[in-house]
Amino acid sequence: MNEIKYDLHCHSSASDGALTPHEVVLRAKEHGVTTLALTDHDTIAGLAQARQTANENNLKLISGIELSCTWNKRTFHILGLDIDPNNAELLKGIQTLQDTRLERAHKIAHKLEKNKVPGALDAVLEAAGSGMITRSHFADFLLKNNYVSTMQGAFDHYLGQSKSAFVNTQWAELDNAINWIIKAGGCAVVAHPLRYKLTASWMRRFLTAFKEYGGQGMEIITGRSNPDEVRRAAHFATQFELYGSIGSDFHNPKNQWVELGRLATLPTNIRPVWQLFTPDKINIIKTMN
Ligand code: AMP
Ligand code: MN
Ligand code: MN
Ligand code: MN
Repeated sequence: MNEIKYDLHCHSSASDGALTPHEVVLRAKEHGVTTLALTDHDTIAGLAQARQTANENNLKLISGIELSCTWNKRTFHILGLDIDPNNAELLKGIQTLQDTRLERAHKIAHKLEKNKVPGALDAVLEAAGSGMITRSHFADFLLKNNYVSTMQGAFDHYLGQSKSAFVNTQWAELDNAINWIIKAGGCAVVAHPLRYKLTASWMRRFLTAFKEYGGQGMEIITGRSNPDEVRRAAHFATQFELYGSIGSDFHNPKNQWVELGRLATLPTNIRPVWQLFTPDKINIIKTMN
């Protein structure tokens, strides 16, 4: 029997992933993934290459993105799944996020310089190439140059909220981000809902706003979620009638805890988000016959 295996959240070198889109798709295939969404931070630049490799390897690729958003002064990540990557409004929207990322990179580098860490800007510009510059690039630089001994250390000492090189950033407004996704024909999904450390009442407030703006889904299973976290996320999804998604949030093969396709199954009482995806042409032809 041909088993369908979904992984609807991962990164390539178009943002902070270690592998090219081509390599991500091949690795997903090796790990038995049959439907993959590439969801780079604030960019669709990796999708064309990923699609070519997916087509050559008989893997279904869902066009995706992970948008950086601000709601009530806090940062949230919203996945856009099954988007049209050529949609003009989406492209215009993500351009503002890309400008913000570059501006923020300058500010982070400036703060690092003031903290006796020179040379970060040139290093991250070089490492990111034409892709998005993320805090992961700064963390890599700090690690490679022995300012810290682990990636986590880079966030704990420099890059994390309120640390010395943290730059408070206004990302896309939540309603705008959801709107771009909807305009591009996709569905908006809350990424890793438990990572924001919201109290239950703030989570309800957030999800109320998310639903009101047209959001439809929530990640229930992510790369490292344990059974208790799955249960808690599923509880909110049920309460707010959200579709459930599963995605590894894979970035780098060196992280042994997270692998493409290595995911628990969605609880049976949660409607899967892929029910919302546009059926592909082959399926449409089949049902027409
Ligand atoms: P940014 O969107 O540029 O602020 O960067 C956020 C990215 O940094 C996330 O998508 C993660 O990949 C990475 N990140 C955030 N916190 C940590 C952490 N504590 N350890 C390792 N990577 C992290
Ligand atoms: Mn990331
Ligand atoms: Mn994220
Ligand atoms: Mn992610």
